[in-house]
Amino acid sequence: MDSLLDNAIMSIQLGLEDHASPDKRRVISAARNLYAGVLLLCKEVLRRLSPPNSNDILIRTRTRAIRGADGIVCLVGSGNKTIDRTQIEEVFRQLAVAVDLSKLRRLAEIRNDIEHMHPNVGPALIQEAIADAMPIIRTIIVNELQEEPGDLLGPEAWAALLDEARVFKAEQDACRESLGSVGWGSEALASAVSEFRCPNCTSTLIRNGNPAAAQVGELQLICSKCGEEADPDGVVEEALNRALEWDSYIAAKEGLEPALDECPECGKHTFVLGENRCVNCNFSIRGYECFVCSEPLTLDEYRFGDGKLCSYHENVLSKDD
Ligand SMILES: [Zn+2]
Ligand SMILES: [Zn+2]
Ligand SMILES: [Zn+2]
Repeated sequence: MDSLLDNAIMSIQLGLEDHASPDKRRVISAARNLYAGVLLLCKEVLRRLSPPNSNDILIRTRTRAIRGADGIVCLVGSGNKTIDRTQIEEVFRQLAVAVDLSKLRRLAEIRNDIEHMHPNVGPALIQEAIADAMPIIRTIIVNELQEEPGDLLGPEAWAALLDEARVFKAEQDACRESLGSVGWGSEALASAVSEFRCPNCTSTLIRNGNPAAAQVGELQLICSKCGEEADPDGVVEEALNRALEWDSYIAAKEGLEPALDECPECGKHTFVLGENRCVNCNFSIRGYECFVCSEPLTLDEYRFGDGKLCSYHENVLSKDD
């Protein structure tokens, strides 16, 4: 069954043809085809890794048990429905497939944004989608399928992928460099820079127009794609939430305190608990302790109390009144 691979190749080629078309309306099908092609390529990898006679079990959402002639029971794939993006990522992780799928989610987001946002968002984002797809396509074809990308995709499609990715990367480097002079003073904040997005078109190509900026408030953020200025506070808050999303998810699952919380002083969701301070207004909970028992106050004790008592002593003393 080579049809999965054939479909993957065709889908990627069609996406690039859509992209090259002067008809700007085709940007939606460009994004759809590109994304579908990358998912199909991933499924081809899993199809090849599926055990023999398992009906491609690794790419099927359902399985069923069968008893062979020798009496041995085994699971095989069942039905036509195949796994989605998150399941693909999961199986790639489980099998330690050496393909970096970290950009796959962004690719899915871009496809959705292009489909659902204002039509002028599409042209701004499609190059980023290609730049995200290119390394996944290359690694899968070279490492997993042991083929040459230019042979499989055709020299034109492969050259188009490389060109677009190169142009995007150059602009991305320039954007990153314009943000390089800023002293973030926070590990969480520094790691959130790669999550900066334009609030208007969602492009990650955000640059800083104020070379003298030394901290967040002094940034002058401009989107390289749509040209809109962006409010640094909002961009930073959203980026931070995105960067710490996984930590927050794990914390919620294990009943730990969240990675990020609302700051009691500035009201933004930018209080990094691991660093014990708000990266927006610099408020720190350090030094605040209960004047009865000297226990350091938690963020909520500070938030809901008067900043001088732990919740226990707040309770005890309020009963005395
Ligand atoms: Zn923009
Ligand atoms: Zn704050
Ligand atoms: Zn106390």
